[in-house]
Amino acid sequence: MFDDNVGVAHPKQGIGPRYALYVDSLTFNQAAYGSQHPLSIARTGTVGELTRRLGWLPGTARKVCAPASVSTLCRFHNKDYVLALQAADRDGKVSRNFRARYGFGTMENPLFAGVFNRAATTVGGSILAARLSLENRVVFHPAGGTHHGQPGRASGFCYFNDPVYAVLTLLNAGTERVLYIDLDAHHGDGVEAAFEFDHRVHLLSIHEVERWPYTGNPSKNPRICNLPVVKGCGDRDFERLIADVALPFASSTEPQAIILTCGADCLAGDPLSSMNLSNISLWRAVEQFSKLAPAVVVLGGGGYNPWTLARCWTGLWARLAGFEIPTILPDFAKEILATLKCDLIDDDDIQDTWLSSIADQPSYNI
Ligand SMILES: [Zn+2]
Repeated sequence: MFDDNVGVAHPKQGIGPRYALYVDSLTFNQAAYGSQHPLSIARTGTVGELTRRLGWLPGTARKVCAPASVSTLCRFHNKDYVLALQAADRDGKVSRNFRARYGFGTMENPLFAGVFNRAATTVGGSILAARLSLENRVVFHPAGGTHHGQPGRASGFCYFNDPVYAVLTLLNAGTERVLYIDLDAHHGDGVEAAFEFDHRVHLLSIHEVERWPYTGNPSKNPRICNLPVVKGCGDRDFERLIADVALPFASSTEPQAIILTCGADCLAGDPLSSMNLSNISLWRAVEQFSKLAPAVVVLGGGGYNPWTLARCWTGLWARLAGFEIPTILPDFAKEILATLKCDLIDDDDIQDTWLSSIADQPSYNI
């Protein structure tokens, strides 16, 4: 089914001899969420541009995804909800009744041109990523990670729940033990609710305590490992938690496949969370988890600082695919970072390193 030549040659510091693949679509580069929304910033388009211009994304590694069909979307989401979002996008308006019932057309989950196609393509990307991972690959889908989507309602900037489809794709292919890991600063409530009663799925989440959606407390369910961390959690506490609790739990599940949502909002400098991780600490955690299963899908997720997000996911791809990250970026890459804008971050708070490098310094001293 797949071309044996697909992938990236000569891994240097990646997770092993697996080929890494990158799921993408031009749809993800289009403007979205209007102008007054935390997700209206440049995100995966910048990651794609940086990885391409740095020579880290050969054409064989890039896989283009298509939107999931309505019938596929209805395998998890309620049909009335799917059709309501499709109609609202087509008509460019949403009734008060639908807004209240389905949660879109609001400040949180705005209606914008192309919302249905974008959300459906995000789901299509997760399905493709899961299928590709079954060929013993690690597959990165940075536009994925909409982990708050509910079966019949938009929630937390998420219209559909693409991680659920990645898990379902693996289960439908016969995978008996799937581990879902969520490192976003917000608890992945939609994914947990979808699989809390499915004995084939284990769920592990590290997220900031007392942060929206206010779920993710330690669970009595032995298949769910929720690890809320205090505000300001830095690398030292995070790495200890990974080594002492998260990795032993993940390993004990003997996963055949891992889906990992790697939100960038757990990094220092994010305007919507108070966690303080460096990107190198997050990359290391992803690499450690990735070694536990032959099939791995890494999704994006939240992240509302366009500089820390672009650097994190660009560097994560480099690490997964085995490319060496330079200490100082070449001028063309600095220029890409210099064009980014964010209304939620004061100019005085933009750090020089956000404009000139990929890897952070460890945050042990924070
Ligand atoms: Zn988040």
